[in-house]
Amino acid sequence: MDTQAVISRTTRTVNEDSPAHEIIEWSLERFAGQRMVITTSFGMEGCALIDMYARHNVPLDVVYLDTMFFFKETYELRDRMIDKYPHVTFVNKGTTVTPEQQAEQHGPELWKSNPDLCCSIRKVIPMAPALSDYDVWFTGLRRTQSGTRANLRVVDWDWQYQILKVSPIASLDRPQIWEYVQEHNVPYNALHEQGYPTVGCTHCTKPVPGSKIGEYSRAGRWNGTGKTECGLHGYGI
Ligand code: SF4
Repeated sequence: MDTQAVISRTTRTVNEDSPAHEIIEWSLERFAGQRMVITTSFGMEGCALIDMYARHNVPLDVVYLDTMFFFKETYELRDRMIDKYPHVTFVNKGTTVTPEQQAEQHGPELWKSNPDLCCSIRKVIPMAPALSDYDVWFTGLRRTQSGTRANLRVVDWDWQYQILKVSPIASLDRPQIWEYVQEHNVPYNALHEQGYPTVGCTHCTKPVPGSKIGEYSRAGRWNGTGKTECGLHGYGI
């Protein structure tokens, strides 16, 4: 797909470095009538993106994949998001494979012995049917999150899941996201105040000593394994 053509085929004009609110307004105009979805793991970026779209009062589905290994603080955050955005539909499309079934089939603590397979079972595989009901996928990815995301485009075709992917906050950095969250009273994970710059599964997320809430780091994710991505966005697996 010619994504540059997609970007220009509307009354608005946006580019790779357009402000997030312009990209969001453009996306809602460009894809009006199509089935749009935000996916989130309830990171600070995802919560900010949900707030940015929710302000437009359009019907909006937010899909998340409960790995069954979330922190209790993440479940609390999910519930606060549901309360704050009643017109947004939050849908869990997580795996149906229980931790016990996973241990029976692949042995105990698969996140240690084979984290790629664990992420595949609990995130990558469930995402395909989760996205199959939609035409356009909005993500909270940013270019400065990691080296693998440095070339992230605002609009791109996702070959892994065969869907058009839009990343409106691609050009923002964590301090800008943190500023937005504070200004707009966006709920965020309590663990961010306890040294966790990002929050994933309990088994694979550690605090990062000395980190500050407005600074981004993935150093606490899959610490010591060499793994940096879960595989959901074509990176890592
Ligand atoms: S982050 Fe860890 S526990 Fe969660 S799915 Fe991936 S390997 Fe498994």
